[in-house]
Amino acid sequence: MKKIGIDCDGCLVDFTRPFLGYVNDRLGTDFQYEDVTDYDFEKVFGLEPSVVDELVKSFFDTTMFRALRPESGAQEAIAKLREKAELVVVTSRPLGIEQETYDCLEEYFPGAFSDVFFANGRTGNTEGASKPAICRQLGLGYMVEDCPGHAESCAPVVDASFLLRRPWNESESPGGVVKVNTWQDIVDHFYE
Ligand SMILES: [Mg+2]
Repeated sequence: MKKIGIDCDGCLVDFTRPFLGYVNDRLGTDFQYEDVTDYDFEKVFGLEPSVVDELVKSFFDTTMFRALRPESGAQEAIAKLREKAELVVVTSRPLGIEQETYDCLEEYFPGAFSDVFFANGRTGNTEGASKPAICRQLGLGYMVEDCPGHAESCAPVVDASFLLRRPWNESESPGGVVKVNTWQDIVDHFYE
């Protein structure tokens, strides 16, 4: 059976809008979703990486973080894809919010994923393997990402590395990556 690895934030659930709401409350700013034209929030906010990391970590403690909503089209797509493939989540969320992650995935995508892997990342699981290493270990044929860097790094080890179009990857066309506009485009890949 085909195996698809799927990133969590920006693919399955919308992290950015609630996080911007939190940041705007904290900083008195007015950042909008469309302003996030770079994957690195420090470039969007004009802040030091350490300040952004602190904002992200403190956001994890808020009720807003516990109320993230699914990305548009994600639930419908996952329902279709699970009929064609084994689905696993590969996220670079840090350890410490595993339970919140499982709860959120189970609420919106009940029973859809056979496992959840916490990969190494900037604020991620520092002990964890990289996303491409996880793809290789699990024998994943496909990866779904919103981060251009992760999509590119996974591309050599999967058959197709999908990058969902978002404002922060609009200007990017990483090598070897299949850029798609919507979740439906990914579903079509498996049903054509
Ligand atoms: Mg993501």
